[in-house]
Amino acid sequence: MISCKYEKMWSVMRSNRVVFLETIGDEYKCWICKNLSIEAHRAPCGCRFCLECIKSYLKKENTCCPGTRESCKELSIEKGNVLFDEEANENISKFVVRCSAKHCEFQDFLIQMEDHTRDCRGTERRCRYFNMGCNKVLDKDEELDHVIGDNNFHTKLIKDFMEHMKKDMELTKMENRYLNFDLKSKHVRQISDSF
Ligand SMILES: [Zn+2]
Ligand SMILES: [Zn+2]
Ligand SMILES: [Zn+2]
Ligand SMILES: [Zn+2]
Repeated sequence: MISCKYEKMWSVMRSNRVVFLETIGDEYKCWICKNLSIEAHRAPCGCRFCLECIKSYLKKENTCCPGTRESCKELSIEKGNVLFDEEANENISKFVVRCSAKHCEFQDFLIQMEDHTRDCRGTERRCRYFNMGCNKVLDKDEELDHVIGDNNFHTKLIKDFMEHMKKDMELTKMENRYLNFDLKSKHVRQISDSF
């Protein structure tokens, strides 16, 4: 009965990894937890709930609607008067949200966010000396502390890196010299061959 195209959206909603960029109308909020309804279900009176919220409410309490009380009795998911609310889930899926990770500006429709939050590297940054051999992954806020705190380590990395570059350049120079020599000798050979 529940359409699966929303599964990923609900997992994002449960994970709290997004920030809503528009005001959420009360009509989409759960009567029980007062948050945006996850797996929105609706009673005949029109009240909406998260599936989990209404399930545990009906287990513990009576069967009156927690919103409209006596005027809406004998609620039951099994009897089919608390129904999956396709329209609400569809509308919720189109809310525009932003990724809540630090240093990440990504935004999209709620229903599209799961793919992003799974791969998001917003919170993590590599040390700026990554290319020189520091493998630290940090928050941007931590980076300065790391660079200053591990100053000796980074200085050594930079030194080694420069050494390596110097050797590389000398090697290239040497290779070029040999190459020139080789070309010359080939040329000489070619000329002498033609005689
Ligand atoms: Zn709820
Ligand atoms: Zn109600
Ligand atoms: Zn992100
Ligand atoms: Zn580092």
